[in-house]
Amino acid sequence: MKKRIYLVKRLPLAKNYYAICLFGFVLSVRPLSATELNHELIHAAQQRELLYIPFFIWYGIEWGLLFLKYRNWEKAYFHIRFEKEAYQHQSDLEYLKHRRHYRYRSNQ
Ligand SMILES: [Zn+2]
Repeated sequence: MKKRIYLVKRLPLAKNYYAICLFGFVLSVRPLSATELNHELIHAAQQRELLYIPFFIWYGIEWGLLFLKYRNWEKAYFHIRFEKEAYQHQSDLEYLKHRRHYRYRSNQ
């Protein structure tokens, strides 16, 4: 997989986070550890298989629905299926080599 990582001063859409993955590009405010980079690359794989725009729509809707459930943006964030998959597997640096497509579907 080609790794396209850009260091930036500020993140679009995500002021409170240190990195974001958009359309297969990783933007980061500081150099990432291998685990942090793996997390973002798991999102890159999720976005690619949902053809990008539907990923962001699904992500946003799910975050909103989970916020209604938990009344807490951070708690809702950690329950988004895409984040659950990324956090569960970010330490496994071989994960993307054997990951099944649409893995987050069975992640709820
Ligand atoms: Zn994430």
